[in-house]
Amino acid sequence: MRFSGFRIIAEALTGQKGWRPLWRDPDPQPAYDIVIVGGGGHGLATAYYLATVFRQARIAVLEKGWLGSGNIGRNTTIIRSNYLLPGNEPFYEFSMKLWEGLEQELNFNAMVSQRGILNLCHTDAQRDAYRRRGNAMILAGADAELLGPDQVRAMYPFLNFGNARFPIKGGLLQRRAGTARHDGVAWGYARGADLRGVDLIQNCEVTGFRIEGGRVRGVETSRGYIAAGKVGVAVAGSSSRVMAQAGMRLPIESHALQAFVSEGLKRSIDGVITFGAGHFYISQSDKGGLVFGGDIDGYNSYAQRGNLPVIEDVAEGGMALMPALGRARVLRIWGGIMDMSMDGSPIIDRTSVEGLYLNAGWCYGGFKATPASGYAFAHLIATGTPHPTATAYRLDRFARGHLIDEKGAGAQPNLH
Ligand SMILES: Cc1cc2nc3c(=O)[nH]c(=O)nc-3n(C[C@H](O)[C@H](O)[C@H](O)COP(=O)(O)OP(=O)(O)OC[C@H]3O[C@@H](n4cnc5c(N)ncnc54)[C@H](O)[C@@H]3O)c2cc1C
Repeated sequence: MRFSGFRIIAEALTGQKGWRPLWRDPDPQPAYDIVIVGGGGHGLATAYYLATVFRQARIAVLEKGWLGSGNIGRNTTIIRSNYLLPGNEPFYEFSMKLWEGLEQELNFNAMVSQRGILNLCHTDAQRDAYRRRGNAMILAGADAELLGPDQVRAMYPFLNFGNARFPIKGGLLQRRAGTARHDGVAWGYARGADLRGVDLIQNCEVTGFRIEGGRVRGVETSRGYIAAGKVGVAVAGSSSRVMAQAGMRLPIESHALQAFVSEGLKRSIDGVITFGAGHFYISQSDKGGLVFGGDIDGYNSYAQRGNLPVIEDVAEGGMALMPALGRARVLRIWGGIMDMSMDGSPIIDRTSVEGLYLNAGWCYGGFKATPASGYAFAHLIATGTPHPTATAYRLDRFARGHLIDEKGAGAQPNLH
């Protein structure tokens, strides 16, 4: 079934009886050529590109809960490509370009909205760093503009320009950045993969790997053993737990990250704003809710919920930047589990077990990477070689010392 305006009108006139579920609900087959573990954004995108671009067949995605129950349905929906380092920027810009054509590609409304992201700076040194970052972005084919305080004031007059501690000195604007409806992205990729014959198997937890002679032969699951020629693991916050089943210890810590949404308010924030003097960022949803967040909770956890100290920290950051926020009532708070790598950059690589591939280490920022991550992981699994934009995302870079330390913060997850 193709979605179109004509289809909506036709269904409206015929009692809405023609809509069908977006994907099938198949039982697992005994064997597949390729098994993807994890039905989040990255796993679903990988399966989609494997089936479409790389013409692979007999593919299954195994998800322990329901599709989209993980971080893909919990994030604050920001997409952007405002990175500095050569290992990162081409990859995220590739992702941005895929976002720009995604809804047409998937024939699905993922509400991709290029409303812009503004990173505020509060010191001269921070402005210089943003100038450098903007130049790196432009060199990689992305867009970037450095704004002065008056230009920021014209966009967002309600920000706290009189703050003596954190004066707003300007900001780095990426106009092509923005937001996308996170679960719509999961559903769009799921539908696209299912249409190409991928089996999306929910309530199917991978509990172990069968490895013989250094090669993966299949996976043990809560629904029985499934043989597989190749296995790609894309389980985000559960990466360390799942890969431990294959005898691997990852350079990854799992931390809770929380997000907040207020009651619906009149339109006031057109784009995404990030505070440069603390960990706080905010946008406004199409329903009017202010969507905001901040730092990880800062201790290792696999619980999809956070704690009060970071709520206080986020509230302080918000009040310092936008005092009017204190008048808004918070409707919901939730959390997800971040796979925090030690340099803040991801891993898309093969492993020491032949046929077993890893996609992990997305930290706070894996949603915007969803299209490129799926594409690059599918490229690696199908061809055996890394995608040109993802060659730096090697697992052994931590042993070799070739870190992609975007923030220059070193091996400390809460600073990335
Ligand atoms: C509060 C919050 C805000 C965020 N904001 C942003 C943002 O604004 N922009 C941005 O770019 N990123 C953001 N992120 C990060 C982003 O959401 C993640 O990096 C990204 O979604 C991770 O990839 P995924 O979608 O594949 O993960 P997930 O959706 O978590 O998918 C992994 C899946 O694996 C499944 N799984 C785990 N173990 C097993 C197993 N043993 N067997 C089978 N399946 C298993 C899980 O159930 C899950 O569905 C945010 C995250 C959170 C929590």
